[in-house]
Amino acid sequence: NFNENDLSRVVEADRANVWHHLIQHQPFFTGADPKIIIEGKGLRVWDQKGIEHVDAVSGGVWTVNVGYGRESMGDAVRDAIVKMNFFGGTVGSIPGALFAEKLLTKMPGLSRIYYANSGSEANEKAFKMVRQIAHKRYGGRKHKILYRDRDYHGTTIACLSAGGQDERNAQYGPYTPGFVRVPHCLEYRKHEQEGAPDQNYGEWAANQIEEIILREGPDTVGALCLEPVTAGGGVIVPPEGYWPRVQEICRKYDILLHIDEVVCGVGRTGTWFGYQHYGIEPDMVTMAKGVASGYAAISCLATTEAVFDMFKDDASDHMNYFRDISTFGGCTAGPAAALENMRIIEDENLLENTVEMGGYMLGKLGELKDKHDVIGDVRGKGLFLGAELVKDRDSRDPAEEAKVQAVVKDCMAQAVVIGATNRSLPGKNNTLCFSPALIATKDDIDHICAAVDGALTRVFG
Ligand code: PLP
Repeated sequence: NFNENDLSRVVEADRANVWHHLIQHQPFFTGADPKIIIEGKGLRVWDQKGIEHVDAVSGGVWTVNVGYGRESMGDAVRDAIVKMNFFGGTVGSIPGALFAEKLLTKMPGLSRIYYANSGSEANEKAFKMVRQIAHKRYGGRKHKILYRDRDYHGTTIACLSAGGQDERNAQYGPYTPGFVRVPHCLEYRKHEQEGAPDQNYGEWAANQIEEIILREGPDTVGALCLEPVTAGGGVIVPPEGYWPRVQEICRKYDILLHIDEVVCGVGRTGTWFGYQHYGIEPDMVTMAKGVASGYAAISCLATTEAVFDMFKDDASDHMNYFRDISTFGGCTAGPAAALENMRIIEDENLLENTVEMGGYMLGKLGELKDKHDVIGDVRGKGLFLGAELVKDRDSRDPAEEAKVQAVVKDCMAQAVVIGATNRSLPGKNNTLCFSPALIATKDDIDHICAAVDGALTRVFG
C-alpha cells in the first residue's frame, strides 16, 4: 500500500544501499531507475511503476514453481512460525518430519533428508559427506569429486571448485583441490569435442568420464556430481544413452552418484525430479529452488540408507557422525512451505500441466527457429527450455552476447521477463532461457513467444 512518493523513496534507498546479485552496477548510477518488484500473482509481477510483467523465468532463477501470490503458502509459513519458529536442526519439528516423509515418497530408493538453506549449501554438505566417507572407509584416498564442464553447483568456494562455468569461476581462485572436471554432453556442440562420433554421442560422452576415472585412479574417486538437465550452462538435455552408461560407470568403480536437482527438482521438468526421466538410481540428490517456490528458504540433501548407514556403523567412535550443522537449515518455515508447495503441485496436477505446456512451448520455439536463422537449436524438458542463438547455422559460432542481451532487454521493454545464459565462457551467454511457473497456460506461452519473436526481428532483422 505504498504511494508514489513512498515508492520513489524505496528506489533511492535501493540505489544507495543495496549491492545486488550478479549484476554490473554502473548502469544503476547512469541509467534508468533500478527495478523494484512489488507484487506478484500467478505468472505476473508488477514493478514500482505499476507495469505488469509476464515472468517467463520464475523469479529470474527457475524458482517460483507454483507461481506468485499464493495465500495458502503464506498461511502455511505463518502458522508454522507462530507455533514454533526455530529450535535448530539437532531436534525434530512437525513440518520437518512431515515434509521429509512426504518428499521421500516421491524418491524411491532414497531414505534420508538432510536440511539446509540454499542449493550451494546442500551441495557443500554432499561434498563433505563424500570426503568423510573417504576418510572413514578408504583411508582418505577416495576423496575426489568429479563435476562436468558447463554444470554449476553453487557460489561458495567449494561449489565453484566443482563449477564448470568459467565465467563464474574467473578471479575467485585458488580453488579447493580434489575436484576434477569431465566434459559436457551437449550434442549441438559436439563438433567442438575431438573424436565425438556422429552416432551414439551420449554413450561416447559418458565414456569420456570413464577415461578420466581411469586416468585419476578409480580408488581416488569418491563421487560424480551432475545436473540432470544442465541449467545455467545453457539448458543442456543429455543425449540418449548418456545416463544409463553414467550409472553403469559409477557402479563399476564404486563411485557415489550425486544428482544436483537444485533447478530441476520438484516438478520443473514434468517429473518430481529430473533424474526420473532417465531411470537412474542416485546415491545423493540435492534440491532447493522449487522446493518451496521461494516462499521460504529451504534446501535438502536426500541420501540412500546405505550412505546414511556409513555414519552410524560404530556408535562407540565419537567422531563417527556427520559433524555438520546449519543454524537455519530445516527451521519450520521452510518445510512448512515445502509441504504446501507439494500439495499444490499434486492437487492442481501441475506435473501434468508441465509436460503438456512444456511440449507446447517447445513446439512454439521450434516455429521461431523455422522463422529466425539466428536460432541454432531449441531444447528442453518440461517447462525448462532454451533457444541457442548463433552467428550462422553452419559454424554454430555463438551469437554476439551484446545482441543476445538486446533480445532480453527488448522483451523486458515489452514487459516479458526472459533470461540468457551459458556461462561456460565469458562473453558467450548465447542461450535464451525460459522457465515459466508450472501453472503456465497456452495463452501465457503464446504471449511470451510473441515477445521473443518481435525482439529477434528487431535485434537480428
Ligand atoms: N545448483 C544449480 C544447478 C544451480 O543452478 C544453482 C543456482 O542457480 C545452485 C546449485 C546454487 O543454489 P543457490 O543459489 O541456492 O546456492
